[in-house]
Amino acid sequence: MSYPYQLKSYEEYKQAWQHSVTDPEGFWANVADHFYWRRKWDRVLEWNFKDPSVKWFLGAKVNITENCLDRHLGTLGNQPAIIWEPNDPEERHRVITYRDLYNKVCQFANVLKNNGVKKGDRVCIYMGMIPELAIAVLACARIGAIHSVVFGGFSAQSIADRIQDAQCSLVITCDGAFRGAKDIPLKAVIDDALMACPTVKKVIVCTRTRTPVSMLKGRDVWWEDEIKAVETQGNPPCPAEEMDAEDELFILYTSGSTGKPKGVVHTCGGYMVYANYTFVNTFQYKQGEVFFCTADIGWITGHSYIVYGPLSAGATTLMFEGVPTYPDAGRFWDIVDKYRVNTLYTAPTAIRSLMGFGLGPVNHKDLSSLTKLGSVGEPINEEAWHWYKDNIGKGRAPIADTWWQTETGGIMITTLAGVTPEKPGYATLPMPGIQPVLVDEQGKEIEGNGVSGNLCIKFPWPGMLRTTYGDHERCRTNYFATYENLYFTGDGCLRDEEGFYRITGRVDDVLNVSGHRIGTAEVENAINMHAGVVESAVVGYPHDIKGQGIYAYVILENLSKDPELTRKDIMQTVSRIIGPIAKPDRIQFVSGLPKTRSGKIMRRILRKIAENEMDNLGDTSTLLDPGVVDEIKRGRL
Ligand code: ATP
Ligand code: MG
Repeated sequence: MSYPYQLKSYEEYKQAWQHSVTDPEGFWANVADHFYWRRKWDRVLEWNFKDPSVKWFLGAKVNITENCLDRHLGTLGNQPAIIWEPNDPEERHRVITYRDLYNKVCQFANVLKNNGVKKGDRVCIYMGMIPELAIAVLACARIGAIHSVVFGGFSAQSIADRIQDAQCSLVITCDGAFRGAKDIPLKAVIDDALMACPTVKKVIVCTRTRTPVSMLKGRDVWWEDEIKAVETQGNPPCPAEEMDAEDELFILYTSGSTGKPKGVVHTCGGYMVYANYTFVNTFQYKQGEVFFCTADIGWITGHSYIVYGPLSAGATTLMFEGVPTYPDAGRFWDIVDKYRVNTLYTAPTAIRSLMGFGLGPVNHKDLSSLTKLGSVGEPINEEAWHWYKDNIGKGRAPIADTWWQTETGGIMITTLAGVTPEKPGYATLPMPGIQPVLVDEQGKEIEGNGVSGNLCIKFPWPGMLRTTYGDHERCRTNYFATYENLYFTGDGCLRDEEGFYRITGRVDDVLNVSGHRIGTAEVENAINMHAGVVESAVVGYPHDIKGQGIYAYVILENLSKDPELTRKDIMQTVSRIIGPIAKPDRIQFVSGLPKTRSGKIMRRILRKIAENEMDNLGDTSTLLDPGVVDEIKRGRL
C-alpha cells in the first residue's frame, strides 16, 4: 500500500498545513479519497462549537473494517497484520495475517449476531491484551455495534459504572489475564460488576488463563463454543454493515486524571480518516515495517495506534500482552530485537521506570532496527527524552512527542518523525488540519511567539469527539463552554520563539507563584534533573505571601541520609535551571506517587493533600494503588 498523503519533507508539511487552514474541506476530501467508501459524501463538513455539533463527510456510507481488512486482502492477504507477543516469553508468539484476521473477525461478528447483537447496541469489552481483544473490537465495528473497551485492570465498581452509563447489552471477557507475575481473574470481576447491571443479557468468555470460572446458565457462553457453532453453520460470510459516516463507532472513557471519567464518543468516518492520517504521517510508516505501540487497547492510544490506524494502513502492528518489567526490565528491548521492530511508541512513565534500571537491561540487545520513536501520555521530561534518544534510539532515531487526548481521537501536535524538527520537551508543531490557539483567562487569543496560555483548538478536525455518551450537555460544558467558539483542551501550553509548542501540564495544575505562571511540568523537569531523583510531582497550595506555594513530592533512588540537605540541594538545582521563583516551598519524600491505571500522576489528589483537604479526595476509582495515598497523607509536611 502506498500513502499519497504521506508528507515527506518539512517543506511539504508547511504546504499541507497551510492548505488545511485555507481550505480545510478540500484538504480533508483529498485525504478521504484514498479510503473505501460505500458511498461518498455530499458535504465534507458542517459544524458549530456552540451546541456543539460537528459532522464530517455528511451522507457518506462506510464500514471501517472494510478499510482495515477487506481492501487489503488482494495485495496484503499474506502479510502479518498482528504479531502477538505473550506475557511469558517462553510461550509461543502468534502471527495473524490479514487474511486470517479477516476470517476471524467475520467469524466472531457472526457469533455476536447469533447472540442477538444488532447495529447500535453497546458492547462492553473487558479483556487482556490478546489478539481476540482486537478481533472483538473489529467484530463489533463490522456489524455496527458500538464498543466500549474497559481496561482489564479496573475494579468491578468501575466496570459497572461504565456498563450502566453506556447501557451495554453484552460483555466480552476472558477467564483471566496474564500481566507480569500476576494473573487477573477477569470473569470473576465481571460477575461482581454485573450484579449491578441489569441491561447485560449475555457474556462471552474467551479462554486464556484456565482459571476456574463460574458460568451462569442462559447468560454466559464460551467464545470457543460459539465459534464452533458458527463453523457448524458452514462459516457463512459476514458482510460489513453499511454505516453512516456519523454513526457512532465507539465509546471510550477518559483516564480520570482530572475527575470522573467521561464517555467520549467517536464516529465512523472522521475517526477512520484521522487515525489513519496521523499514523501514516507521524510515524512515517513504510509498507513492511513492524510498528510496536506499548499501550493497552483499553486506552485511546491502543484504539488508534494498535488497531485502527495501523490496520487501516495495512501495517504490521505488534501487540504485547505483558508489562515492561517482566520477566525483567529488558523486555521491551528483547521484543524490539526479536521482531526487528522499526517504530516504538511508548509513554514517559514507562521510560522513566526503565531508566531506573540503568543500562544493564539495554546493553547487548540489538536495537538497530529502530528508526523511529514515539512518546505519549504526559509531558516527557528532558532527562527521559535524552535517555530515550541516546540509549534506545542510539542518537539516530527521531522522537515524536505526540500530544493528544481521548477526545481528539488522534495525534494533534507532534514532530513527524524524521520530517519535521524535534526539540526535547516539545510536542513541536500541529498536525495538518489542526489550528491550535493560546488564550488568556478571558479567552482572548494570545498571538505571536514566545508566549504561553491555555491551549484551545479553533477549527474542527475529523477525529474529534462528537459528544459524551448520554450527556451532551456535559460535552458542551467540559469542552466548549469555557471559551466561546473554541474547543478547550484543559492543558496549559507555551509557544516558543520559533513557534514550537510545549505542553506545560493541565491548566488546573499551572501554578501562579507571586503572579508568575509556572507549569508543573517545568518544575518537575528541573527536579528530575537532580542526581538521585527518580520521579516527582508538583502541585500548588495556598500561600499567604505568594498566593500559591510550590509543594513537591519526590521519589529518591535511595533514602536520603540527610533529608534536610537533600531538600536544599534540590532547591538549588531548580533555582539554577528555572530560577529562584520556581523553588519548591515544601519537599516531601515519598516511595510512590498516585497514578491512574494508564500511568499518569493524579495531581488533583496531591493538591488536596497539600491543601490539607484529606477527606475530600474526589473520584479515586481509576487509581492504580490506593495504598500510596495513605502513605503520602501520613507523611504530609
Ligand atoms: P481525564 O480527562 O479523565 O482527566 P486524562 O486527561 O488523563 O483523563 P487522556 O485523554 O488519556 O485522559 O489524556 C490526555 C491528556 O494527557 C492530555 O490532555 C495531556 O494533559 C496529557 N498528554 C498526553 N500526551 C501528552 C504529551 N505528549 N505531552 C504532554 N501531555 C500529554
Ligand atoms: Mg483529559
